[in-house]
Amino acid sequence: MTEDVLIIGAGVMGCATAHALAKRGATPLVLERAVPGAEASSVAAGILGPALEAEHDGPSLPVAQRALEMHGALAEELLEATGVDVGFRVSGALMIAKDEREREALVEKHAFLVRRGLRAELLEASDARALEPSLTDALVGALSLPDEAQLEPPRLLRALAIAAERRGARFKTGTTVRGLVVRDGRVVGVDLGGELLEASRVVVAAGSWTSLLPGLELREDVIFPVRGQIAHCETRAPLLRRIVFGAGGYVVPRPDGRTLVGATAERVGFRREVTLAGLERMASIARGIAPALLEAPFVEARVSFRPATPDGLPLVGRTSIEGLFVTSGHYRNGILLAALSGELLADLLEGRDGGAAARLFDPRRFERDALG
Ligand SMILES: Cc1cc2nc3c(=O)[nH]c(=O)nc-3n(C[C@H](O)[C@H](O)[C@H](O)COP(=O)(O)OP(=O)(O)OC[C@H]3O[C@@H](n4cnc5c(N)ncnc54)[C@H](O)[C@@H]3O)c2cc1C
Repeated sequence: MTEDVLIIGAGVMGCATAHALAKRGATPLVLERAVPGAEASSVAAGILGPALEAEHDGPSLPVAQRALEMHGALAEELLEATGVDVGFRVSGALMIAKDEREREALVEKHAFLVRRGLRAELLEASDARALEPSLTDALVGALSLPDEAQLEPPRLLRALAIAAERRGARFKTGTTVRGLVVRDGRVVGVDLGGELLEASRVVVAAGSWTSLLPGLELREDVIFPVRGQIAHCETRAPLLRRIVFGAGGYVVPRPDGRTLVGATAERVGFRREVTLAGLERMASIARGIAPALLEAPFVEARVSFRPATPDGLPLVGRTSIEGLFVTSGHYRNGILLAALSGELLADLLEGRDGGAAARLFDPRRFERDALG
């Protein structure tokens, strides 16, 4: 039997693609070596922060804003379809400055965001502390971003997988794909360790392991792992209401007092380790943002690998091998970009154009590099 669409990997990209395709009447088969959400997608903090993440003037801010809008609708759709509440909330965010140099950076960021039509407000230190009384005393100012949001990634992963399955997608867990099978420039299926599973179209959604998949013509350094360690602690009443960026990291408060402090960004290959240096870093972020957090009971530290790319943009779309598609390399923003990437890939699989995001995320930009 030849599958119509095979998806390799059931992280947020594989699940969002399967969900988008299943809603359009397709019956994709998702192959996952572990279980859905086993890797980065469940470890993520769940910040949906187009303005927080906007680093320079470029076409990716409108795409990120569109991605955030899509999450609100997706959360409602998933609640309706599965009964799972993914915890989507427009909690707002603050970026804090602890010295003059940081304050100037916030002034610049404020001007940039306002020019692009986003809501942002510069605050004096006392106003920031009036909003969030647990913030450090060592503040010189803050930038308030009221439209930034968050959700709970493990719940999103469950809901996407359940909703996709109910609409006709199938998941085969505990199944490692050993390589792609390509004949005469066209993908014909995947190798499951000696067994060929035939498919007319294959989507690689293997996160940080994407470039390692034999048969995909991407250099190994096009998608590379950046390790992230993140700490979970609990406060009875939440110490903060908004996401706070500062002190080289962030704190994400959930409404019930669970609080995430993150995250490290380390180029150490696939070493799956929580280190004392990582814990020290997270303690320093907590102290730098809200010192009372150091007294909060520590629950656990989690670790996984963000799929990073040389230009900071993901790869979503066709490759030069006929029938072969990629959705990977979303680095720090895979949760934010999930719904948008899933719908975009479903459009491309249906033979549509995909618009500006498709051009921005075209995987063939790296194949061209590789050729010369
Ligand atoms: C600490 C941390 C915090 C983060 N915080 C945020 C955040 O706040 N907001 C945000 O938007 N993003 C955040 N991210 C980034 C986000 O988690 C990633 O961009 C996103 O999860 C990537 O999704 P993915 O599906 O591409 O990869 P993954 O979730 O890694 O999934 C890939 C899947 O493919 C499977 N797989 C790999 N190879 C094979 C194979 N050969 N055969 C079968 N299966 C295979 C793996 O088992 C895995 O399940 C964070 C990441 C980390 C690590």
